[in-house]
Amino acid sequence: MTAGTTDTSRQEIRRIFEAQRANQAAVAKATARERIAKLRRLHKTLLHYRQEIRDALYKDFQKPPLEVDLTEIYIITSEIKHTIRNLRRWMKPQNVGTPLPLLGSRSYIQYQPKGVVLIIAPWNFPVNLTFTPMVSAIAAGNCVMLKPSENTPHSSAIMAKIVEELFPENEVALVEGAVETSKALLDLPFNHIFFTGSPAVGKIVMQAAAKNLASVTLELGGKSPTIVDETADLEKAAARIAWGKHVNMGQTCIAPDYLLVHESCKEELLKKISRHLNASYGEAPQNSPDYPRIVNRHHFERVKASLQEALEKGARAVIGGQMDDASRFIAPTVVAEIAQDSRLMTEEIFGPVLPVIGFRSLQEAIDRINSREKPLALYLFSKNRKNIRQVLNHTRAGTTCINNSLLQFNNINLPFGGDNNSGIGKSHGWFGFEAFSNARSVYQQIWPLSTADLLRPPYNAWKQKLADWTLKWL
Ligand code: NAD
Repeated sequence: MTAGTTDTSRQEIRRIFEAQRANQAAVAKATARERIAKLRRLHKTLLHYRQEIRDALYKDFQKPPLEVDLTEIYIITSEIKHTIRNLRRWMKPQNVGTPLPLLGSRSYIQYQPKGVVLIIAPWNFPVNLTFTPMVSAIAAGNCVMLKPSENTPHSSAIMAKIVEELFPENEVALVEGAVETSKALLDLPFNHIFFTGSPAVGKIVMQAAAKNLASVTLELGGKSPTIVDETADLEKAAARIAWGKHVNMGQTCIAPDYLLVHESCKEELLKKISRHLNASYGEAPQNSPDYPRIVNRHHFERVKASLQEALEKGARAVIGGQMDDASRFIAPTVVAEIAQDSRLMTEEIFGPVLPVIGFRSLQEAIDRINSREKPLALYLFSKNRKNIRQVLNHTRAGTTCINNSLLQFNNINLPFGGDNNSGIGKSHGWFGFEAFSNARSVYQQIWPLSTADLLRPPYNAWKQKLADWTLKWL
């Protein structure tokens, strides 16, 4: 099939699903050594196809090769390496303590694969967000069906080639297609669905999962705020916000969506951000080889319309604003004095436009954040410990990064995921392995006599005394 042009048929999808179901018990039996061998092969193959992956992403939305290396391939290879280092330990039964009333027993958790799992991915980091969860799913011993986004067909094609080369279809299979394919997949009784995409589609996925009581991990999006207070190192804040917002042309789920800055340093920060954008992409960013494009016409028109609406409602373009319809180009743009009812302030932007709002007290910024859905990421630039504590204690967010941008995603020891509207469940490292596993509780009686044996009916005064004692002391 040509990448991204045809929906895989329902019959074909069902056939692969049934084949995986039939094979799941065998796949689940794989030892740590066998699972590690699969991951090593994946690692080697990714590096083998490095140039083809770079080419595919360039064709999809002109993503610079260095960014493909660091934000697609490296994210997956580091996940693989971390998983290989830890998998033996994760797969071992994990002993837990024994409370006094259960004296004479042992208890442990055995992590077992969920079964046949579905991974649905978005287009903005197409290889990373398809293969990184797949690493966790394979490590946990599952069969996997992958559905990458129809908006990045070249990336889908190279991923399909890699999957076909490495795995039999009854173990890991990639199906291409758009909404119809996704719907056909969602009709099947998967054991777990790992979805990365918009909150709107996340709700559709969760409804479909409910029909089969499948567990879900939903990695969603939303508007991630960035606060800069009056104590922040403005030079560093400006450089890191400019980079975090405009890498991947702002098409990043954890990109700073809007900026809240203390009025006393607002103009200075804006000047510095403009300077850093010029330093990164030049006076004519359209000619920069390091600046991608909006993925397709629909998203280009969406961001363009939102920016035009904001400007019509009186927003000031601090820098940027230039567009080219033919090449789906929008310059790195910063807008101030924005009306709060502009779409730039009511919807996730997912493009290279940064609205800036001044605040006079930190509480005002916190109230603004708390008046919205809980974000996937919250950024804070501050040198003041009290302010950092105040923001952490009085806001909610899936992830937080202090005095930098995006890097919380890169520490594999941290869980990655949102909170309600920005997501349900976590991924990366141990948390990814856990998401694709059932934590099976095992209680094993060791001593011949258990305390429960003493408390069986018929009840009498002595047993009542024992119950009273238990309530009082244990
Ligand atoms: P999307 O929700 O439109 O699509 C994601 C996937 O769902 C695609 O594979 C698509 O084919 C499928 N899909 C679309 N409509 C569907 C429907 N009606 N029924 C079933 N499946 C459907 O998202 P997108 O535009 O690809 O990506 C952008 C969104 O993803 C943003 O909201 C962004 O914040 C979010 N995102 C989140 C993360 C994260 O890790 N939390 C990462 C990247 C992107």
